Amino acid sequence: MAKKILILGGTADARELAEALAADPGLDVTTSLAGRTSAPAMPSGTVRSGGFGGASGLAAHLVDQDISLLIDATHAYAARMSTNAAQASAVAAVPCFRLERPPWLAREGDDWISAASPEAAAAVLPAKARALVTIGRQQIGPFLARLDITVLARMIEGLDSKPLAPHRIMLARPPFALEDEVLLMRTEHITHLVTKNAGGEITSPKLEAARTTGVQIVMIERPDLPDLETARSVEQAIAIAGRMLAGGGYGP
Ligand code: NAP
Repeated sequence: MAKKILILGGTADARELAEALAADPGLDVTTSLAGRTSAPAMPSGTVRSGGFGGASGLAAHLVDQDISLLIDATHAYAARMSTNAAQASAVAAVPCFRLERPPWLAREGDDWISAASPEAAAAVLPAKARALVTIGRQQIGPFLARLDITVLARMIEGLDSKPLAPHRIMLARPPFALEDEVLLMRTEHITHLVTKNAGGEITSPKLEAARTTGVQIVMIERPDLPDLETARSVEQAIAIAGRMLAGGGYGP
């Protein structure tokens, strides 16, 4: 019988991993999405949507569905889901690992300010700043509350209500080309780029564009996550999945 894998998704890497694993007839792959995006990009294999009801709900799901392997491929900032995954794995005795891209690192000559949270990032922007804020819609509130700065908030899905002037929302889905990022920063006279440290190449051109145009970067740091074995690429994740499914153990 095919072995069941549950991927906690919501990222491009999770989709790529699901596609690779679902091609194996010996595996039955389900990706779980939080269910907050109205038209998410759909992964290969089975897709389920919505929360599990905390770590205990996820542990019960792992047992009920006879899952052999849990892969936390959520975004590096989805800290609650990652914590739940580690706890549920221990309770249900189902092996688990994380797929998380390495973070971006500042290069020589980069002008980065580190911020511990979106609130801290919003507070650090100087009056009159013109900020391109690329952190999605869920935590945009503290930026839109600052009426002494101008925010251009780029996100995939819009807000329920229009922000107060001078702020604006820009709907767009990655990838973004370097020349478009440079053009955007120049035409909008951007002084600050606010971003999470997602890592990877899909959205990294904005960092290069900031370098080129002299825009200061406010980098919201990754949250602390439970100590789990971590794949840094989809290829590594496929190898770890193979080992864990073969009974090769798991742990930090
Ligand atoms: P979060 O704060 O860590 O999770 C909050 C709750 O949402 C979880 O406790 C869980 O509910 C539910 N949930 C989260 N991810 C889920 C998944 N893949 N499948 C089923 N339920 C899920 O998560 P978040 O930061 O809001 O992220 C939500 C989703 O968006 C994730 O899939 C993540 O990969 C994706 N995403 C997040 C970011 C970001 O910056 N945070 C960026 C890009 C994509 P229960 O406790 O009820 O199970």
